[in-house]
Amino acid sequence: MHDFARELFPLCRSITGAGLRQTLQLIRGHVPLALHEVASGTSVLDWQIPAEWNVEGGRIETLSGHVVVDFADCNLHVVNYSCSVDAIVSREELSAHVHTLPGQPDLVPYRTAYYGQQWGFCLSDRVWESMHDAQYRVRIDSTLAPGSLSYGELTIAGREPREVLISVHCCHPSLANDNLSGITVATELARHLLGRDNRLSYRFLFIPATIGSIAWLALHEDLLPRIEHGLVLTCVGDAGPFHYKQSRRGDAAIDRVVAHVLARRSSPHKILPFSPYGYDERQYCSPGYDLPVGCFMRSPNGTFRQYHTSADNLDFITPAALERSLDVLVEVVGVLERNIVYARVDGRGEPQLGRRGLYRAVSGQREHEDAQMALLWVLNQSDGGRSLLDIAERSGIDFDRIADAAELALTADLIRPVEPKPSPA
Ligand code: ZN
Repeated sequence: MHDFARELFPLCRSITGAGLRQTLQLIRGHVPLALHEVASGTSVLDWQIPAEWNVEGGRIETLSGHVVVDFADCNLHVVNYSCSVDAIVSREELSAHVHTLPGQPDLVPYRTAYYGQQWGFCLSDRVWESMHDAQYRVRIDSTLAPGSLSYGELTIAGREPREVLISVHCCHPSLANDNLSGITVATELARHLLGRDNRLSYRFLFIPATIGSIAWLALHEDLLPRIEHGLVLTCVGDAGPFHYKQSRRGDAAIDRVVAHVLARRSSPHKILPFSPYGYDERQYCSPGYDLPVGCFMRSPNGTFRQYHTSADNLDFITPAALERSLDVLVEVVGVLERNIVYARVDGRGEPQLGRRGLYRAVSGQREHEDAQMALLWVLNQSDGGRSLLDIAERSGIDFDRIADAAELALTADLIRPVEPKPSPA
């Protein structure tokens, strides 16, 4: 995953354009992604797909030709979506177009100007403070023209049409934790699922933030009733503790499953309530949609000093952190796959386990008392309304043990799966 992040790192991504398209092509080298284009000017909900932005270069030079700032060194140097410029400007005039971080004088900030025609540069405050000439030559070679917004979509059909949505944004340029970590972990999670016989169906979206999810929602309203669970993945490559931001509903199955998995791993983590700020979960969780989509992170956006700066680089994300994030997500998917609602075939009284060979089966297991308790809980609680996660939470028994007990009971024809109630949305 870290190697893949290294490969993606140099590309100058944005919400449209060649860098985004190249990124999707590289993801397609790992998983069979379908690439889609939505034409500039298309109305999507309250928004419009913007003109497509492409950038070739950008420089600030002294009048004697010495290059002070160069896009070729770091693609954060040109404000994302900056219009083109070729002019000689006074230092004072330039100051209105320069973004620095005086509190972090060695870092280059990441800035965007998606929806307003302006040009600008981002540079370290140290460089800016060393620039004392009266005039500079500024040049940005960029185009903003009708084109399209690109996104990638991968569907993995399961035995049931109900879907899990995994969404990652891929519109940030050379920034590692805030967006490459999500891209690489989602790609690897998709590879994990592609090789398996899944109960649920999965839909992966690799989209530019905000406008991408708004466009996808607007163009796929017919698919939304299938989405049973969803996760936005971002900032999953740093060494910080896990954070999970709940869906707008707060009590969706995905909220409980992620909390359950994080709690049983007994590593430090925090559950955050929903707020209408952050990543694409705020689009999926907007009124009228209110999909059960949470956001899975390590260090949340805006809480680490590297956030949206040149310090969010390949050294900030580690192979081990990416791997552990993937492990948690594989576990979450494992619980979703097995979290079924059952009803007793004959719902009255406790069935005789010995006659069905179940007592023996249970006794043969190492911790047979726990296994028997799990079976008794499953048989008692499977009334067509409670999921296996409900039973695990109520009994205090690990989910996988409850799910193993349910498989025994299913094999013995003591329980049958029940269609879940349609979701309120
Ligand atoms: Zn960001």
